[in-house]
Amino acid sequence: MDAKSGARERFESSRAGLVELSHRIHAHPELGFEEEKASAWLCESLADVGFSVEKGVGGLPTAFRARAGSGPLHIGICAEYDCLPGIGHACGHNIIAASAVGAALAAAKVADEVGLTVNVIGTPAEEVGNAGGKILLLERGAFEGIHAAMMVHPAPFDMLRAKIIAASMFEVHYTGKESHASAFPELGVNAADAITIAQTALGLLRQHIRSTDRIHGIVTNGGAAPNVIPAHTSAKYIVRSGTLEQLAELRPKVHRCFEAGALATGSKVVITGGDKPYAEMRHHEAMAAIYRSNSEALGRPFPNLGEWETRPTGSTDMGNVSLAIPSIHPMIGINSLPAVNHQPEFTAHCVTPDADKALEDAALAMAWTCIDLATNAEVGESLIARA
Ligand SMILES: [Zn+2]
Ligand SMILES: [Zn+2]
Repeated sequence: MDAKSGARERFESSRAGLVELSHRIHAHPELGFEEEKASAWLCESLADVGFSVEKGVGGLPTAFRARAGSGPLHIGICAEYDCLPGIGHACGHNIIAASAVGAALAAAKVADEVGLTVNVIGTPAEEVGNAGGKILLLERGAFEGIHAAMMVHPAPFDMLRAKIIAASMFEVHYTGKESHASAFPELGVNAADAITIAQTALGLLRQHIRSTDRIHGIVTNGGAAPNVIPAHTSAKYIVRSGTLEQLAELRPKVHRCFEAGALATGSKVVITGGDKPYAEMRHHEAMAAIYRSNSEALGRPFPNLGEWETRPTGSTDMGNVSLAIPSIHPMIGINSLPAVNHQPEFTAHCVTPDADKALEDAALAMAWTCIDLATNAEVGESLIARA
C-alpha cells in the first residue's frame, strides 16, 4: 500500500470519533484562553493515538504541542478551538481542531516511512484580535524546529489563498464627570459624547482611506443611566489594512479620531491593546500548489470565485506564523450560503454532514500534503534548508 492510501485508511478508522470530537467541541463553546475542555479533549485524542503531548506550552494553559514520528521534515498543523461571544462556534473552529487531529493521526501512520515528524500545535484564542495565541506561542518558542505550518479554515466555499489582511484590536476608555443630566448638566463632562464625536470623525475618515481598509467596533459601555451624565464609557475597535506596514499608517489616523472625542468634550482618553497586531497571510506557493492537487484528488476542486479571489477577507494570527515559517491557510467550504462566518446560522452549519465532510477532506488533504512535502525532494529539502 502506498503512503497516501495508508494515511487514508488510518483516517477512516478514526473518522467517527473525529466527527464526534468536532460535534462535542461545537456543543461546548469556549472563549479564547478559556478553552479548557477542548484543549483537554484534543490532547487526550492525540495521546490515545500515540502522540507525545506537552500541555500548557508557552505559558498558555490551553495551548499544547503534540508530536509523532522522527523524520527530518517537521510539520506543524495548527489547531484552533475558541468560539465567539454569544454565537458559539460561528467560525467553525471545531472543524479546524478535529481536522488537525485527523490530519496528524493519518500522517503519523506513515511518518517514519516518508520522513516526517508530525506536530499538532494547539493555538488558543484566534478570535481575540490582538496578541492571539499564535503570536504569543511564536514569541515564546512553541514553534521551534517547525519547517512548515498549515491549517484549514471553514468558510462558505473553498478558497486556496484567501486575501487575509493585517488587523489590530484595541480598547478605548473615556473618563468624564457625572452630574444630574437635567438639574446640573453644566457641571458634567460627557464621556458618551466623546464616543459620538469619535464615531463621526471615523465616518469622515472613511473618505480618505484605502478601499481595502476596515474600521469597525462596538461600544462596550455607553453609560449607566439617562439621568446621569456618563463619566465612564468604553469601546472596542478593530482596524485592518492590507499589510502590517499599511496598518501602521492607518492606526494613528484612527487614534486621532478618538483623541478628538476627548478634546471636544474635555474628557480623558486612554487607548489600550493593539500592541501585537495580526499580520497579513503570506501563502507559500509551492505548498499551496501541492494542497490544491490533493484537494482536487479528493474531488474538491477550487472554483473560480471572481472578485472573492482578490477582495479582503478577515484576519488571523496564522498570518504572523506565515511571516515566520512557510505556511498555508486554505479555506474549506461547508456549503453554508447564504450563511457566512460569524453568523449564528453558520454556527448551525458547522455540525452538518457537509461540515463533517469538510473535516474529512481537510484532514486528508493536509495529511497528503505532509506526505508530498516529505517525499518531494525539491520542496521538502528547501523547507528544511531554510530553517
Ligand atoms: Zn472568525
Ligand atoms: Zn476563524
